[in-house]
Amino acid sequence: DPARLISPEKRGEDIDTTLRPQSLDEFTGQAEARANLKIFIEAAKNRGEALDHVLFVGPPGLGKTTLAQIMAKELGVNFRSTSGPVIAKAGDLAALLTNLEERDVLFIDEIHRLNPAVEEILYPAMEDFQLDLIIGEGPSARSVKIDLSKFTLVAATTRLGLLTTPLRDRFGIPVRLNFYTVEELESIVRRGARLMGLGMTDEGAREIARRSRGTPRIAGRLLRRVRDFAEVAKAEAVTKQIADEALTRLLVDNMGFDQLDKRYLTMIALNFGGGPVGIETIAAGLSEPRDAIEDIIEPYMIQQGFIQRTPRGRVLTANAWKHLGLTVPKDLEA
Ligand code: ADP
Repeated sequence: DPARLISPEKRGEDIDTTLRPQSLDEFTGQAEARANLKIFIEAAKNRGEALDHVLFVGPPGLGKTTLAQIMAKELGVNFRSTSGPVIAKAGDLAALLTNLEERDVLFIDEIHRLNPAVEEILYPAMEDFQLDLIIGEGPSARSVKIDLSKFTLVAATTRLGLLTTPLRDRFGIPVRLNFYTVEELESIVRRGARLMGLGMTDEGAREIARRSRGTPRIAGRLLRRVRDFAEVAKAEAVTKQIADEALTRLLVDNMGFDQLDKRYLTMIALNFGGGPVGIETIAAGLSEPRDAIEDIIEPYMIQQGFIQRTPRGRVLTANAWKHLGLTVPKDLEA
């Protein structure tokens, strides 16, 4: 559902360049990833070479695109951006690649959704900076090789398992992004409020942070909605109470779960006795695509210890039963 307030997927209103951090030092959280990237960027710059190809892996909204942009900026090179599903034909990718200058960053979001024919073109481009194109058809077809500038591919995917092995193997620098802590999100919310000129108490920022599912994109979105409430209420600053009222009214509960999350948990509890239940059954029951459930609903629930993935399917934990206000089944009691 594209209207979901807490959906971590990109929407037009999120293209808010004022809130986007512009440098690695301004970027909050992901300390390990940042520290490593800093070293690799520095080393590549000192050698005057293109940085090795980088693969960002992690749920939507955690800052993969932002980090890719920052890397280009810190490397002092051009940033070109596209996404897997947008590159329909091998020729589209060839056009992008031949336009790159030495050491440029090419960002491909959702790289797991590349068409296989396009992916084939990408292998020699990444490895030898060469394009192998077949021109013409049938007996008159011939292959031509075109040299490319030595570029850096920065790609993003939500789950490593979605990538083919040959593609995965061609990234020298894999970087996993994790959900943010409440403290990190709190500082992102405070910074956002400052940039918007919105009064914000520490408790208000904390409340928004707690309900943002570990995801900066959701924090930014909740912040904008809470600002609307605060402005209409003519409040001088967002307090915990204002944040709580606004988010409750928007049906974001105290865990940051919305109606769809609740339907997910309730269905497993009431229709399947808490599981195990297979992902296909869940997807059919919710009328939601399986991918959306695996990419968006489940990762945060797993991280928070609300569900477990077992070989036989999803199982609710005691936390989930408690959150729903239901009696915890005997076999789950510690
Ligand atoms: P992804 O590519 O992983 O889906 P984005 O890079 O598009 O995520 O980030 C989503 C939103 O969250 C953007 O508006 C961005 O400005 C914001 N954001 C991401 N990471 C941070 C961060 N560490 N600090 C502040 N804002 C962030």
